[in-house]
Amino acid sequence: AAAAAAPPRLILDLEALQHLDASEAGPLTRYAATIQAQRGDYNGKVLSIRQDDMRTLAVIYDESPTTLTERFISWGVLNPEAKGDVDDASE
Ligand code: C2E
Ligand code: C2E
Ligand code: C2E
Repeated sequence: AAAAAAPPRLILDLEALQHLDASEAGPLTRYAATIQAQRGDYNGKVLSIRQDDMRTLAVIYDESPTTLTERFISWGVLNPEAKGDVDDASE
């Protein structure tokens, strides 16, 4: 059983990501590919990412981390449990 105190993780669905329109999903697709390359993690169907990476992606997409998290969930590429896991405290 998972530890009850653990916060929700940010987990990207790599297969769903491949089916999105590249004009919107392109930056996220390239970012995820970069993390996979840095880890040498090429065979997964999902990719766990850092909280800090959502903040970086928010700068790239010119959105707040909260708004971007909800958008990625609505695209079906981020686990719904991630909602509320990212705050906008760095602003
Ligand atoms: P690094 O940040 O210096 O991390 C070195 C190693 O520490 C990582 O090697 C990994 O084995 C471990 N590590 C660091 N943070 C975590 C963590 O939160 N969880 C886990 N499970 N392990 C952690 P690895 O995976 O080969 O990554 C090599 C380098 O690639 C990292 O060096 C970092 O610069 C980059 N990287 C990998 N994954 C990510 C990511 O999700 N986001 C960002 N921003 N960079 C990443
Ligand atoms: P979990 O975090 O719930 O992950 C469940 C499964 O999702 C993992 O099974 C793996 O198949 C997939 N998965 C999640 N994140 C990634 C990712 O970034 N890359 C890839 N390729 N697959 C991913 P797995 O590997 O058998 O791990 C089972 C459990 O062991 C994990 O459950 C977690 O509780 C723990 N675990 C494995 N690796 C790490 C790690 O780097 N850090 C921590 N803290 N726990 C880990
Ligand atoms: P995780 O491995 O279960 O790590 C959970 C949290 O513990 C991380 O959240 C981070 O705050 C802290 N942590 C774990 N290992 C390290 C470490 O070596 N150095 C530092 N400074 N903190 C660490 P975070 O950063 O939001 O990452 C969430 C998940 O993303 C991690 O869960 C892991 O599955 C994945 N991840 C993040 N960075 C890396 C990395 O460099 N390599 C790999 N393989 N996985 C990573």
